[in-house]
Amino acid sequence: MAQAQRITPRAKDFSEWYNDVIMHAELADYSPVRGCMVIRPHGYRIWELMQGALDGMFKATGHRNAYFPLFIPMSFLAKEAEHVEGFAKEVALVTHTRLKATGKTGAGAVMVDPTSELEEPLVVRPTSETIIYAMFAKWIQSYRDLPLLLNQWCNVVRWELRTRLFLRTTEFLWQEGHTAHVDEADAEREARTILGVYRRFAEEWMAMPVLTGVKTESEKFAGALRTYAIEALMQDNKAIQGGTSHNLGQNFARAFGVQYQTAAGGLEHVWNTSWGVSTRLVGGLIMTHSDDNGLVAPPQLAPVQVAIVPIWKSDEERGQVSGVGGQVKADLERAGVRVELDLRDNVKPGAKYFEWEALGVPVRLEIGPRDLAAGQTMLARRTGGKAPTPIAGVVAAVITALAEIQRGLLEAAKQRREQASIRGVTKAQFIEFMKGSGGFAYGGFCGGGTCEMEIKEQTGATIRVLPDPEFRSREAPKTCMWCGKPSVAEAVWAQAY
Ligand SMILES: [Zn+2]
Repeated sequence: MAQAQRITPRAKDFSEWYNDVIMHAELADYSPVRGCMVIRPHGYRIWELMQGALDGMFKATGHRNAYFPLFIPMSFLAKEAEHVEGFAKEVALVTHTRLKATGKTGAGAVMVDPTSELEEPLVVRPTSETIIYAMFAKWIQSYRDLPLLLNQWCNVVRWELRTRLFLRTTEFLWQEGHTAHVDEADAEREARTILGVYRRFAEEWMAMPVLTGVKTESEKFAGALRTYAIEALMQDNKAIQGGTSHNLGQNFARAFGVQYQTAAGGLEHVWNTSWGVSTRLVGGLIMTHSDDNGLVAPPQLAPVQVAIVPIWKSDEERGQVSGVGGQVKADLERAGVRVELDLRDNVKPGAKYFEWEALGVPVRLEIGPRDLAAGQTMLARRTGGKAPTPIAGVVAAVITALAEIQRGLLEAAKQRREQASIRGVTKAQFIEFMKGSGGFAYGGFCGGGTCEMEIKEQTGATIRVLPDPEFRSREAPKTCMWCGKPSVAEAVWAQAY
């Protein structure tokens, strides 16, 4: 009980709460290297489940996995002008290859060997467009080699100054898809397909509703023609960019000479796309669903979906309840459910409940001697509610509960998002909204970078997306909510992570 109470309530300090949830669920920890994080087994399992689901979706849409090196020659980054500008301020460099002993002791016992300086420094990949397209130039000759649809699962490094566990860390894990196409239409189709995959994953697996749309010029990826994104609203009404999909046009193909022979015998540059989601999604999952008792994991991505907690006083009772518990566990596992049986002797049932709660386990089954006598178990949901369930039908009841919890979480998150959204804002309303509760503000936008900059400076809000048709307001705004000039598109603003 004491443990659950140590989680700072959301209403008191959201950011403290977020860190407490992570620590109590043992998802991650701070590392000896500033800005980096250690992902602990429970957190890593969530990532593995995310990977498994996404990887299946990528393969089902024709993509194959490959692996490219961690190091990129520094000169590669200079080849695409916007790209280098976008990443120059946050790259880690390898300049030397050796240390040597100094003969001293302690911290000064080794130094960089000055004779080992590299002729050309290597960049630790912040993203892999440059090295992948250098290889594409070698592999693509003819229209018959296209489309080329690759993905890689890896780590990247972006030297961040202000970091937060999962949301922004100097090194993070992600997947980056890289594709090459014969023309703009095919590249556009690909960028859109992946946006759809990301949305489906966010909603069906994470139970995290998202808006989809295109980024403005100032928010797009460095070197892209267009960037599409999924955006979700967290419980503190700040937005999180969950994933991006870029139509890169021919920018990188020109920089790296990726050309192909057309069916008619001409020579053309390919059209590229790139797209990624990262361990940041784990942060999004935490902030979408969790409560003051700790992590709430959507069943689809919960490392443990069911915790069975037998209750006993005597050894004889222990034998009975753990026997039935073991049988229920085996039955659930056969049905594909991830389940743990908690037979620890040195922890009281109440304390076990709090622990499994903090870990985000969606369903808890309590089996005591009295339940056993009645042929039932108590089925408690992490999201609230507890009911006796006949042991004979427990597998079906658990599967139903998991599905209902999954649906309920998505529904609740959607409702919360809609309650924190305002449409057709005026400038005055907008300023008040962003000063107050915050959330998604829909309004007219003139397309001007000046308005975007002023809004960011005065309210901290940025345009998250120019939303896709299904998210737009029924009536298109006529004027820019900030400057009053004619609106070119409806925009959605929010303060963001
Ligand atoms: Zn304007």
